[in-house]
Amino acid sequence: MGNANRFAAETAVFSTLDLALIGPAETCPLCQKNPPILKYHIGSAAVRQQGRLCLTCACQLLNEIATREIGHWMTR
Ligand SMILES: [Zn+2]
Repeated sequence: MGNANRFAAETAVFSTLDLALIGPAETCPLCQKNPPILKYHIGSAAVRQQGRLCLTCACQLLNEIATREIGHWMTR
């Protein structure tokens, strides 16, 4: 990896949602099971994504981001 990658770090911001704003039938778009209680904003300078996730999927997403970063670090 070159130096250009040094500034491509991703950010992940999670915030809780007011449960009153979540409809009773609303489910997480990833697992389709749990209520989407967390709002997220992730991305780098080039790519940004946002949405809602359940706690389980939010943890998996954070783990994937961290694992990717460790992968970049290991190949430096
Ligand atoms: Zn989920």
